[in-house]
Amino acid sequence: MPELGNDLSPATIAVTAGRPPREPDAALNPPITMASTYVATGDVEYGRFGNPTWTAFEDVLGRLEGGRALAFSSGMAAATTVLDLVGQGAGVVAPRHAYNGTVMALGDLESRGRLHSRLVDIADTAAVTAAMEADPDCALLWIESPTNPALELADIPALADAAHALGVRVVVDNTFATPLAQQPLSLGADIVVHSATKFLSGHSDVVLGALVTADPEGDEVHTALKGRRDLAGAIPGPFETWLALRGLRTLHVRLERAQANAAEIARRLADHPAVAEVRYPGFGAIVAPVLAGGAPAGDLLTRHTRLWVHATSLGGVESTLERRRRWKAEPATIPEGLVRLSVGIEDVEDLWADLAQALEAADGVTHGG
Ligand SMILES: *Cc1c(COP(=O)(O)O)cnc(C)c1O
Repeated sequence: MPELGNDLSPATIAVTAGRPPREPDAALNPPITMASTYVATGDVEYGRFGNPTWTAFEDVLGRLEGGRALAFSSGMAAATTVLDLVGQGAGVVAPRHAYNGTVMALGDLESRGRLHSRLVDIADTAAVTAAMEADPDCALLWIESPTNPALELADIPALADAAHALGVRVVVDNTFATPLAQQPLSLGADIVVHSATKFLSGHSDVVLGALVTADPEGDEVHTALKGRRDLAGAIPGPFETWLALRGLRTLHVRLERAQANAAEIARRLADHPAVAEVRYPGFGAIVAPVLAGGAPAGDLLTRHTRLWVHATSLGGVESTLERRRRWKAEPATIPEGLVRLSVGIEDVEDLWADLAQALEAADGVTHGG
């Protein structure tokens, strides 16, 4: 079969890459390869070192991000593998509003003397640069953009330039943007992190992570990360990886609908009297209204929706919501009344009608005396 060209659009790559060779009677889809070991003297040898189903998923994600992908057992397994590469006693600069698992992992490593971290406003390029300059041991800049759940945006090219001038490696958690909206490697990042649990899989049925690095053959960062995966064993299951691959096939159409729904809902929320502020970066499917009634209104809202599901996580075809400050680990700089909406692909009028009646219920109780 002719090789897929590099000039294909992301939608075409999502559908076409990671398929078996086109031979008579070949299945169109890669099989779920259940194997703990392989016949000796090949490239893989053992089930912790590789799996053809992982390879198919990695092929598609790697092409979408413009690099080389490695699948992990979860987004946090991927993230902590990157942190594991940082030398003993080194410094990490990270967003104060990064995914709270990432901030907790940094705190955990810091408490054990493994590294130190400085948390910054990632939207403030000058402040991030100053934090890197202030720490002679700074080795890693962690970027998340948009941030979860504050939805702040980082200037990735400017931050990557500033970091590289200081010899600092740049990693971008691209979970919220997805490679369809943002390709961090092309903006100067060295490593991309994904929680494939979210939009990439897209059906709230799998926990999976991935790392992507720039592509040159024999790439040293890829080799180091693969080495960590081999040794630490944070490997995905073949079935989970296959589900994520199946999710990737429709990423572009799911996102198109979810984003259109999200933009419309953000517009309508901005005019709603119960809403003090709407966070929406102008793309993607996450909208974060801040309710004027604070925590009580947020909690009531999550209790009164019938269509939207009160659940954590995000990026599924089904719309979900949660008040983020219900989690103790969420920083105090996130407003109590911020409700993170993960907008799905349902009919937008049905979604709005349900949200509007729940907002009314939440607002009525708050202000009704
Ligand atoms: C969910 C999430 C993670 C963690 O991924 P898991 O798959 O849950 O381990 C990391 N970063 C962001 C931005 C996330 O939303």
